Amino acid sequence: MKEVRLLGSDTSGFKLGALNGENNKDYKWSEVKDVEIVTDGLVITTDGQDIFINKQWSGWHKLLKEVPVGYKSFNNEFVSHYFSQMKGCEICGLKAVVKDECLNCCAEVWGEEVQKSYDSKEEYLREEQLMWFEPEENEYPDINNRPDDGFESWTGWKPVITDEDIRSYSYD
Ligand SMILES: [Zn+2]
Repeated sequence: MKEVRLLGSDTSGFKLGALNGENNKDYKWSEVKDVEIVTDGLVITTDGQDIFINKQWSGWHKLLKEVPVGYKSFNNEFVSHYFSQMKGCEICGLKAVVKDECLNCCAEVWGEEVQKSYDSKEEYLREEQLMWFEPEENEYPDINNRPDDGFESWTGWKPVITDEDIRSYSYD
């Protein structure tokens, strides 16, 4: 059996399916009876079944934000608070840092642990940004902090690398 993933979501519903496009299925919020946050993710109850969305899946945070208000087991205020207390990430530039780790780029916040492996914060940020913003093959560098996967832009962000840095890094 192919592994099911969250393939996308918006304010009208969400899509599940295997990564190769098999067995895709669209669900509308209008057919969802209840939504509950559990330890590992979300349980979404429709007419016939309980659907489990693992919080490790890409798109989980976006989905979390798009659950409509009004489900009896879902605490929308808790979710708003969860997002509003996230801090800005100096590497990817999104507001996605919880407990010194970024939920978007997965980098660790500069601090005691990271300091052991780097000479300076600047060096650490450069290295992490070069990896994070490394373009796919045949694509141009695009250093940005546009909102992504449910995370908002952090206005205090300034990249420490340039397109030129990325080009010379990629060709190394
Ligand atoms: Zn980040």
